[in-house]
Amino acid sequence: YLQSMPKSETIQLREKHVGAACQLFFRSSPLKIVRGIAQFMYDETGERYLDCINNVAHVGHCHPHVVEAGRNQMSLISTNNRYLHDELVILAQRLVNTLPESLSVCFFVNSGSEANDLALRMARIHTKKKDVITLDHAYHGHLTTMIDISPYKFNLPGGPEKPDWVHVAPVPDVYRGKYTHPADSESVEEVGRMYADEVGNICNEIKNKNGGVCAFIAESLQSCGGQIIPPDGYFKRVYEYVHEAGGVCIADEVQVGFGRVGTHMWAFETQDVVPDIVTMGKPMGNGHPVAAVITTPEIAKSFSDTGVEYFNTYGGNPVSCAIANAVLDVIEEENLLERASRVGNHLLSRCEDLKHKHRLVGDVRGRGLFVGVELVTDRETRTPATAEAKHVVNRMREENILISRDGPDSNVLKFKPPMVFTTQDADRLVETLDRVLGELDDTRISNIKLEVLVTPINTEVPKKENVIKSSVQKAIKT
Ligand code: PMP
Repeated sequence: YLQSMPKSETIQLREKHVGAACQLFFRSSPLKIVRGIAQFMYDETGERYLDCINNVAHVGHCHPHVVEAGRNQMSLISTNNRYLHDELVILAQRLVNTLPESLSVCFFVNSGSEANDLALRMARIHTKKKDVITLDHAYHGHLTTMIDISPYKFNLPGGPEKPDWVHVAPVPDVYRGKYTHPADSESVEEVGRMYADEVGNICNEIKNKNGGVCAFIAESLQSCGGQIIPPDGYFKRVYEYVHEAGGVCIADEVQVGFGRVGTHMWAFETQDVVPDIVTMGKPMGNGHPVAAVITTPEIAKSFSDTGVEYFNTYGGNPVSCAIANAVLDVIEEENLLERASRVGNHLLSRCEDLKHKHRLVGDVRGRGLFVGVELVTDRETRTPATAEAKHVVNRMREENILISRDGPDSNVLKFKPPMVFTTQDADRLVETLDRVLGELDDTRISNIKLEVLVTPINTEVPKKENVIKSSVQKAIKT
């Protein structure tokens, strides 16, 4: 069925020839996904899964308009951006039209990591400074420079050391961060000010020591850090501190851009700020590798004044640009921002109901189709329910619903589905989650230590019924 070898053989070949550092979902019983349509993915047996995590397949897996645009352009020409091409300039114009006026110069690249790396390079050239402020638990890409500014990676036991020029500010997490609401203050805004002042203090330290800041980089809503919604006013105050210290502000929209928040095309707009550089990727190509950096004419001029040509073999090739233009067409024609707001609000309010039913649900937060459900074993102490979250993700998979978990303690259930998600999909997701959380209430599983270690790949493909039974039994037993 669309694939040439039995799953066990695929697993064996992968173990033999693909680096073990490459993560595999559900390692003890991985999924072999062979095709996708809209918000659904299918395995090699034809089993259908509801995809609640793939924010890359933004307008839906294999959207016909996007597929056709790629196929057509591939059959005409795929070359580099040293030649004129309409798809490239039209894409640049359309993206710029969605952004504040000052952000008018585009550079096309192939991945979010490349986009952030280029943004950092430009910031260094423009400010002639080196020190970068990043948020705790942030992830900005897999390149060496990006690992340097990604506590999500360098904080791991085997991770590299944080360089001296990198400064880590606390995540504005009002539920389980350094300052929480309501414990530390009267209002959420006040907690936001306390978090922003932490960045202000770092700016002062850098100014005193090294004369000024190069850049502040953050996701507009921190996804890798656990679906964090910063308090109103946080970024405004942070940007003021950073600008005052001579730095530039980079908004990483790689995960949360292109209308996911529903109310706006870009998540930074929800905080009423204007970054100096915006990076975008993932959803931009709906599964095809295309990304971009968009900045001000002043920063772009500093970059070109170096006299060093910027060339990127695939960045801005006509096929990638045609695909990205087709993604923008679908976002507009299918009114996907409005849908993200409507379905996202429905999903959020139904998740809120779970909080009243299940003691494990500590916090529910989100904006549009970006939602997090934080599980805790104790609501008073807000102790992370890591093992329970892992169990829930695995049980949901057994129910053919794919979700993931994130946050420093991996206890936040993460929903960021393709934007074609429907209210019926949201209902199915929440009703199944309700049942799975109910099982945990019944078995008092949260008092029991669940297995949290990575299990080796099982080359035997277990029968679905056995997987369900064994997973529940294992959870109850251990
Ligand atoms: N920034 C953020 C916020 C991301 O989530 C990611 C990828 N997870 C990246 C940058 C890097 O993007 P890519 O994997 O396309 O290089």
